[in-house]
Amino acid sequence: MNSIDKRAIVIGGSLAGLFSGTLLRSIGWQVDVYERSARELDSRGGGVVLQADVVVAFKRAGIATDKLGVEATERYYLQKDGGIEKMSMRQTLTSWNILYRSMRRHFPDEHYHQGKVFARVQPEGDKVTAIFADGSRETGDLLIGADGPTSTVRQQLLPTYAPQYAGYVAYRGLVDEADLEPEAAKIFTERFVFYDFPNSHILEYVIPGENESLVPGKRRFNWVWYVNYDEETELPHILTDKNGKRRDYSIPPSKMAPTVEQEMRGYADRELVAPFKTLVAATKEPFVQSILDLSVPQMAFDRIALVGDAAFVPRPHTAASTAKAAANAISLAEALVDRRHSVPEALQEWEADQLSLGMHLWKRGRSLGDSSQFSYGKGRTEG
Ligand SMILES: Cc1cc2nc3c(=O)[nH]c(=O)nc-3n(C[C@H](O)[C@H](O)[C@H](O)COP(=O)(O)OP(=O)(O)OC[C@H]3O[C@@H](n4cnc5c(N)ncnc54)[C@H](O)[C@@H]3O)c2cc1C
Repeated sequence: MNSIDKRAIVIGGSLAGLFSGTLLRSIGWQVDVYERSARELDSRGGGVVLQADVVVAFKRAGIATDKLGVEATERYYLQKDGGIEKMSMRQTLTSWNILYRSMRRHFPDEHYHQGKVFARVQPEGDKVTAIFADGSRETGDLLIGADGPTSTVRQQLLPTYAPQYAGYVAYRGLVDEADLEPEAAKIFTERFVFYDFPNSHILEYVIPGENESLVPGKRRFNWVWYVNYDEETELPHILTDKNGKRRDYSIPPSKMAPTVEQEMRGYADRELVAPFKTLVAATKEPFVQSILDLSVPQMAFDRIALVGDAAFVPRPHTAASTAKAAANAISLAEALVDRRHSVPEALQEWEADQLSLGMHLWKRGRSLGDSSQFSYGKGRTEG
């Protein structure tokens, strides 16, 4: 059978789903992506450190890579006494939005289906069928579970594996360049800036702004602040939104409860050094995500593959989750393009390296996070 006759059903239309979808299309597969959310996934995330695998995936899919991010040339480690430790280091910083939109524009609308909630998978001989909550069914040669940390695909295949709370959350925020007072802006522009203090650390970098703008003055400061909370006694309060709804893992922008937001702002005033205090104070809609750990022993199940956060959730200190999703997809397309192998054989071949990559990042993230200087602990972010 020619690969043009092959069809992949991708569950989840975020970054892992789009990396897989665009790369399988580039080798001639027909691909349909099914995303639970009925609305555009835009404006969900903040900054992403641009890693090589993302650029490789874009190039192979035929997506332009020349305007993906903002260059930082050095790192600043701010000290409590006002001093600054400086380190030369070049990195490109991008945003979740720019990656999502670049791939979404490239992926045909008629094959990207929103408001489709995957319910279960059913193998059928040399095919596989996805059954959705609305009762509809879609059959293909391969099903890709790209449905994130709470993956329904994974729940069916590996029911005892679920993400675990790592002991701390990330408060996050975005501030338009124009909205930050010049003295603080001068410190944060074109740099990766950190401030470490007991049991916590906060970091900042500049990312593209509204409408993917890379123009100085129209970009955004992106910050991430790791704070420890006890799972039983404190976390439920942090993850209860302004309408009193207890959320599983995160509170999006504009939904944080006023008491939680005030406590966070008060903590910032007490503990942070002046530039970060100013940055947090200038943030209109902070949001919060709990830090999770997830690893799995298997990613290939005959004609079903788990990719991205559905398989491994490394802690964000690795700055590698998005790149891992890209690497999963690059290697999947490489395995499937070889027509000598059946789909299950190609998945077997694909799985070994991707399991070691996921395991390596998962362990690396835990070790950076649990480094001894902190109580549950957060080490320094690598990327
Ligand atoms: C809200 C949010 C913000 C993020 N911000 C950043 C960031 O700023 N920087 C960064 O590096 N990473 C960020 N991430 C993580 C980053 O997006 C992931 O590491 C990367 O996209 C790979 O994740 P993923 O696509 O595997 O999973 P996710 O991004 O979690 O996507 C999974 C997708 O599957 C869909 N889905 C879930 N269940 C079903 C179902 N039953 N049927 C159909 N669809 C389903 C979800 O709606 C979601 O769109 C963010 C993730 C989320 C969810």
